[in-house]
Amino acid sequence: MVQWTVPLADVRFDPADVEAVAAVYRSGWLSQGEQVEAFEHEFAAWAGCSHAVAVSSGTAALQLIMAALALGPGDEVVMPSLTFAATAAAVWHTGARIVFADIAGLNEPWLSADAAAAGLSPRTRVILNVAYAGHPGQTRALQALAASHGIDLIEDAAHGLGANDDGRRVGTIGRAGAFSFFANKNLPLGEGGMLVTGDAGLAGRARLLRSHGLSASTWERHHGDAPEYEVMMPGFNFRLDEPRAALGRRLLRRLDMNVARRRQLAQAYGAALAELPGVTPALPTTDGASSAWHIYPIVLGESIDRDDFRRRLGVAGIQTSVHYPPLHTSQAYREVENRLPLTEAYAARTVTLPLFPHMTDSQLASVCKAVETALDCAKPRL
Ligand SMILES: *Cc1c(COP(=O)(O)O)cnc(C)c1O
Repeated sequence: MVQWTVPLADVRFDPADVEAVAAVYRSGWLSQGEQVEAFEHEFAAWAGCSHAVAVSSGTAALQLIMAALALGPGDEVVMPSLTFAATAAAVWHTGARIVFADIAGLNEPWLSADAAAAGLSPRTRVILNVAYAGHPGQTRALQALAASHGIDLIEDAAHGLGANDDGRRVGTIGRAGAFSFFANKNLPLGEGGMLVTGDAGLAGRARLLRSHGLSASTWERHHGDAPEYEVMMPGFNFRLDEPRAALGRRLLRRLDMNVARRRQLAQAYGAALAELPGVTPALPTTDGASSAWHIYPIVLGESIDRDDFRRRLGVAGIQTSVHYPPLHTSQAYREVENRLPLTEAYAARTVTLPLFPHMTDSQLASVCKAVETALDCAKPRL
């Protein structure tokens, strides 16, 4: 494994976190128990929404939302192409048609409400927004657009854990939202996710579908409340287990503090990079909104060879990434005919720099120094 001086992301746990997980293993009760239930309650309180359903991944949360809405062939979903593969796959597996829409601009790399409006048809049932990098983007405008057409806004808030828009948590603004607890996300459990909604019916269907469509859980049967179960509908196994729920409860208490540190680091990046010609931070701050700063993407000047720039950072021990190769140009979704000029231009010029809560000021300074050197030396793009 490469030893990066500054990795792209990094996780750190306290001895007490590890102890909380070990205590669950010692208890002998590993799934569908009080840790998951408590995590759901605490998460709903934190998010300010009525229902939180813990699941095995962010992708599972998206799939459950689509299944609970009974999305299927004949339906259409408008979504960005600048996102992780899972956002589109959750739609694709329902049989609904994906309509990719462009981002708002090179320094506003989120789904444009105007582009989404242009992608609507009488068959559109869902606008699926992604809080790209943790930024709320045009969530409010998209919610208004969905409401005015009598369709649903669904939020892929995998990056948006800890973001706010107009005083509300990102993920709770549309009809339902999906969070991810994957190993590099803002609340890292390794694998895990949370579905949030204010809709009791949707939450109930999601709970049934999460565990094989069964009317009673193992926990309820074990405690004698429900001796038998009925198979209510064909379901999935999308459950989160108890040890990870116990860890999630602990990380939730530090989440806002960690997001505040991410914000501080992002501001420091912004100030340092403002001095350098040839790079722009990808995400401006917008009125009334605050980002969860899941990642820190920048946009390179048009003349800079990105591969060469990234290679130079790599040699300096700085790990970088690209979020994302657009889905509409990928093998999997190429037949979804669409040209998205802004998405394509952004995706060709963006680079994601390291960002994680315990990143030190001196690590940040060395990233900025390496960016400066790489900009001086990088080959011009052919
Ligand atoms: C991580 C991620 C997901 C999927 O979450 P998993 O927990 O890995 O299944 C979905 N959408 C986006 C934008 C993501 O970054």
